[in-house]
Amino acid sequence: MHYGNHKMLSIDDKFLSHVDTKRMNWYLDRDLAVMINDKDFKLTFKSKGDAERGKYYKLELESRCVVCGSDENLTKHHVVPLQYRKYFPIEYKSKSSFDVLCLCANCHNEYELYADKLKSELLAKYNLTNHNKKLIKAKTFHHTLNHHSEHISDDRRGKMVEFLEDYFDTPIEEILLNDDFELEPTTSLFMKNITDYKSFIIMWRKHFIENTAPEFLPQEWEDEINLIFKG
Ligand SMILES: [Zn+2]
Repeated sequence: MHYGNHKMLSIDDKFLSHVDTKRMNWYLDRDLAVMINDKDFKLTFKSKGDAERGKYYKLELESRCVVCGSDENLTKHHVVPLQYRKYFPIEYKSKSSFDVLCLCANCHNEYELYADKLKSELLAKYNLTNHNKKLIKAKTFHHTLNHHSEHISDDRRGKMVEFLEDYFDTPIEEILLNDDFELEPTTSLFMKNITDYKSFIIMWRKHFIENTAPEFLPQEWEDEINLIFKG
């Protein structure tokens, strides 16, 4: 057994063990610990017997990049981006631990370029590209037509009416009567198109594997890969 020269204390200040600097930094880098003096540290999570211990051993096993195996500059990667997961029904949210992988900063940045591309493609698929820009434009035109109509030319007015009728697919008289726009986030609108959450999750897992060719995936992903590529 290897002993280091840093004391590791539990969240309630009980001595747990001596650990080396590398191990200490592993906890500190993940916000799982804080320094209590210039040498010793305490954990910031509660250890609740075996279940919790299992969880932290699991984390430790995954303390290398799943793509290249590096143990430097490690970050957490959510395979299904959090922006979508936020709108998942609770039974899918609870499985999120499976979708958190350890990636080094380099591999993470590289993959995010591919992820951004897929996000754009998904928005385009449901006609939501530039949704925010269009919504802001609609709000501005609505306000102008309702309150400052006399200051604009007929030509300009015509263009605004055309844009609004097209945007809301409603006659302008009705649009102008409605004074209450809901500013719905693009992702929220997008998620209304997603009903098969399982396929959506599998699509992201597959996308991750195809674009990173990971060599160090956790064991539980083995079954997942079979499911994705054979099933
Ligand atoms: Zn890496």
